[in-house]
Amino acid sequence: MTKKIAVLAGDGIGQEIMDQAIKVLKAMNLDLTFEEGLVGGVAYAATGHPLPEKTLKLAKESDAVLFGAVGDFKYDHLERSLRPEQAILGLRKALGLFVNLRPAICYPELTNASTLKPEVVSGLDLLIVRELTGDVYFGKPRGRRQCPDGPFEGALEGFDTMRYSVPEIERIAHVAFKAAMGRSKHLTSVDKANVLETSQVWRDVMTRISKEYPEVEFDQMYVDNAAMQLVRAPKKLDVLVTGNLFGDILSDEAAMLTGSIGMLASAALNDRKQGLYEPSHGSAPDIAGKNIANPIAQILSAAMMLRYSLDMPEKALQIENAVKKVLAQGYRTVDIWSEGCKKVSCSEMGDAVKAAL
Ligand code: NAD
Repeated sequence: MTKKIAVLAGDGIGQEIMDQAIKVLKAMNLDLTFEEGLVGGVAYAATGHPLPEKTLKLAKESDAVLFGAVGDFKYDHLERSLRPEQAILGLRKALGLFVNLRPAICYPELTNASTLKPEVVSGLDLLIVRELTGDVYFGKPRGRRQCPDGPFEGALEGFDTMRYSVPEIERIAHVAFKAAMGRSKHLTSVDKANVLETSQVWRDVMTRISKEYPEVEFDQMYVDNAAMQLVRAPKKLDVLVTGNLFGDILSDEAAMLTGSIGMLASAALNDRKQGLYEPSHGSAPDIAGKNIANPIAQILSAAMMLRYSLDMPEKALQIENAVKKVLAQGYRTVDIWSEGCKKVSCSEMGDAVKAAL
């Protein structure tokens, strides 16, 4: 059956890199239809809202959303609800996207782009499973008030509430254990159970669910230790599962191990396998319109879409192998270029991946 893809390119380099991903997908002759929608700053400029109703409807009706990037400093003066970045939060909420999958892969050819020693990161292939709709980011009550007690009683304080319910933890646990089953069968759950009650509940649930997956080697780590292990010996980790706050920080730390933000894809999924697929980087307004952006994160996001929403894992692998091949052939956009390699533009990189399919 034909699958429908909502194509939301967004701002800055969004359109340039999206064109390359669509070029690659179209070259594969898959049973897909593509429909474009406005999102982010360009949508605000055209309709007065970063996530117009029409775009939201398109996203809801589609099997998957392929998303570019949103944001531009020229919209920073707008009230928060109208800023381009709000479109992502609106889509996450409307589609119920509670899982964030963030792979961090360090291709051997790009090892020198990392700030870490080559032997620490070369060949790194890590997956972070982050819960996306709960935790202290959404917990209520929150706000500002007069400090009710302690040495600063009466002073203004800000407060937020960290909370996770058992069903919320159970559903992300199953996603993470299944992801581990499809990889090297090793899962590490990250929390702060030595201090936080929320984390103790998280740990109890993870421990219970682990019994349902006896083949998976399961361990648990405090978040401070996880942050250290990610830079000390990241290759000893394979799949990490954690809450929204810790996942936000650890996934950016893991991304930096690879040294090249233009290479990293991500996915946000709901329980119907509908997903939003986007590069981990932003709209890069500093290089927009110059045809020099690296389109690989966008192309690899399309590969994740084929794997996680469209049940085409072999086609996903075909794209991933094509990316490996062009790197081995020495093709590099300027952000990952080094002496002796072939410097190519954004569209030439898209052409090279297409040719390598
Ligand atoms: P950014 O990720 O856009 O850029 C950071 C640096 O990385 C820049 O120097 C940029 O040129 C470079 N870079 C990013 N992607 C690249 C690529 N594919 N190829 C080559 N170089 C690349 O982050 P920023 O500059 O902090 O933010 C710019 C805008 O993007 C802001 O408005 C921000 O709010 C927004 N943003 C959006 C998302 C998203 O759409 N999911 C994520 C992060 C930031």
